[in-house]
Amino acid sequence: MAKTALVCGAGGFIGGHLVKRLKQEGFWVRGVDLKFNEHAETEADDFVIGDLRDQLVVRDVIDRKFDEVYQLAADMGGAGYIFTGENDADIMHNSATINLNVLDACYKRNNKRVFYSSSACMYPEHNQLDPDNPNCAEDSAYPANPDSEYGWEKLFSERLFLAYNRNFGMQNRVARYHNIFGPEGTWQGGKEKAPAAMCRKVALASPGEMIEVWGDGLQTRSFLYVDECVEGTIRLLRSDFEGPVNIGSEEMVTINGLAEMVIDIAGKDTRINNIPGPLGVRGRNSDNRLIQEKLGWAPSQSLRAGMEKTYDWISGEIQRLHNQRAAAE
Ligand code: NAD
Repeated sequence: MAKTALVCGAGGFIGGHLVKRLKQEGFWVRGVDLKFNEHAETEADDFVIGDLRDQLVVRDVIDRKFDEVYQLAADMGGAGYIFTGENDADIMHNSATINLNVLDACYKRNNKRVFYSSSACMYPEHNQLDPDNPNCAEDSAYPANPDSEYGWEKLFSERLFLAYNRNFGMQNRVARYHNIFGPEGTWQGGKEKAPAAMCRKVALASPGEMIEVWGDGLQTRSFLYVDECVEGTIRLLRSDFEGPVNIGSEEMVTINGLAEMVIDIAGKDTRINNIPGPLGVRGRNSDNRLIQEKLGWAPSQSLRAGMEKTYDWISGEIQRLHNQRAAAE
């Protein structure tokens, strides 16, 4: 009998990659999401289109004991979605409802171990003011002061999953992802994140054209390639460590540095125009000491290697859409 897995948020970026990986390992996979993934056909054996805010849907989806359960569904997006303030009520209500429903249904169906994807956005803003020296060690989380309601909801939900461990004998696993990127992620429409947005802007730029980069470009971040994220996720779920633990890269870059890297990959003469925009914290980097200690794991590839694959995929998508439009005319 094949092992079984449930992936909530399987139509999303990381969920789609996770389903592929579980299929490679021979799992029977059920995915659930509001939508199919826009960029790749799902490999799930059973894909339920459903709203995890609805308890009846959740009860139908979690109708058995799975060998592995991954809860990645959330109302999320890049800085343009999270930091403007316009989506705060939706973000908090939707994601908290999903987590409350999914976790409780798992508990009632005896699914004792659920993976939950929290975010580096839950770390206190005051530890991330210095772009050269941000502190994102796991034990720096309290006193809490995330810079967005998205971060506050993540903090609430990671505590929820761990409370079920303490009170109901569950063995949930909590990771804090740091800026995951790669092919088959959102790259246009307002919910895309910096690496994909840079690739799109550079790929579309005409010779000599400037691309817009939000802020002064000196804010720092680290970015983790999606295959590494999936590897860390699976390892954590199968380990005896509950977390919360960072899953991220320690290769920190400035946002202008990231833009320059993409321009170099594309081989273009594009220049950067820094403009005001929604930003988030001044500096953020993963701190991988705990995951290294507990799981003996660290990401293995450079930012550049991941950005090359991502640029190739996004410029290919742009070309594909262009050809489709030309054929339709
Ligand atoms: P994503 O937006 O691509 O995937 C989330 C999926 O959840 C989407 O497909 C969405 O349709 C689905 N969803 C939203 N509301 C739903 C609902 N009511 N019912 C069913 N499905 C619903 O995001 P992602 O980048 O794949 O992120 C996956 C998880 O990792 C999220 O929980 C996110 O907060 C977390 N995370 C991601 C990053 C990152 O850099 N990508 C960083 C930190 C944390």
